[in-house]
Amino acid sequence: MFASQIPFSRGRAGLVPEMKGFRMQIVVASALGWCFGVRDAVAAANSVTNPAEVTIFGELVHNEQVLQQLQDRGLHQLTEGDRQRLPSTPTVLITAHGISERNWQRLTNAGLAIVDTTCPLVRRVHAAARLLVQEDRHLVVIGQPGHVEVLGIVEDFPATDVWPDVASVTTTEHRRLGVISQSTTRPDVAEAVLGRIRELHPHAEIRWVDTICQPTRDRQRAIEELLDQISVLVVVGGQRSNNSQALAERARTRGIRAHLVQTADQLQQDWFRCDDVVGLTAGTSTPDAAITAVQQRLEAIRQQWN
Ligand code: SF4
Repeated sequence: MFASQIPFSRGRAGLVPEMKGFRMQIVVASALGWCFGVRDAVAAANSVTNPAEVTIFGELVHNEQVLQQLQDRGLHQLTEGDRQRLPSTPTVLITAHGISERNWQRLTNAGLAIVDTTCPLVRRVHAAARLLVQEDRHLVVIGQPGHVEVLGIVEDFPATDVWPDVASVTTTEHRRLGVISQSTTRPDVAEAVLGRIRELHPHAEIRWVDTICQPTRDRQRAIEELLDQISVLVVVGGQRSNNSQALAERARTRGIRAHLVQTADQLQQDWFRCDDVVGLTAGTSTPDAAITAVQQRLEAIRQQWN
């Protein structure tokens, strides 16, 4: 979701409401909420005409409301931990996170039809991994071990090292390294980890393919701009959404109060002061309707300070 969809006037780095005598302000991040990959995947799931015959292979988005809506439509869903199990329906829907070639073969060998909603920018990560391995490089992924997108790569190339942060980087005996990142890695984290890899492998020939997706970069830039202006941050997102948690955590590390809510009724008036500049953002798994509802509730709180 981009802020242009929200009826606020444009501020320095986001959207600021007209003041009309209010002192509390609300600033909306210039990029927030669903990325196109998630939006397309949810649209594909919603357009399935025979939901009872389709199983979603893992969580389509890490948002309880959306998952409940899909379940209400009659779609079957495997939990992330259930991915080793073969779906009992004739069709399986692959999420935007993608799967490994090995897993794809396993599903098709079992006779399952596939609805593929893998994000094109995740395909780019897989293509980069294949290219680097073909170049006879030892593959390194900067990302979260165990994350479904990373598993989709590592399952095809089991020797891969996965390093989520600077502290996890170790020395290897390999002289040729190929480094990619999970598509949603924070650019500053990727840069720091890459620096550490170079430091620990001064004699290795290292090729880095930047596979961080543009929506992640947009959201990262937007949150930094927002944090420069605000005194308190509201993040709309599920409690199990890593991305939403990370946004709140980023604010706290800069000494800014932050609240993570999934629905508008979770907002508490006493979180805000009359002179607060309130930032509003949302994780990539948060639907537009939830963001709009929270924004409207914030606006109601703002008006009470009049
Ligand atoms: S790769 Fe980027 S655009 Fe694609 S689904 Fe993931 S976060 Fe969204």
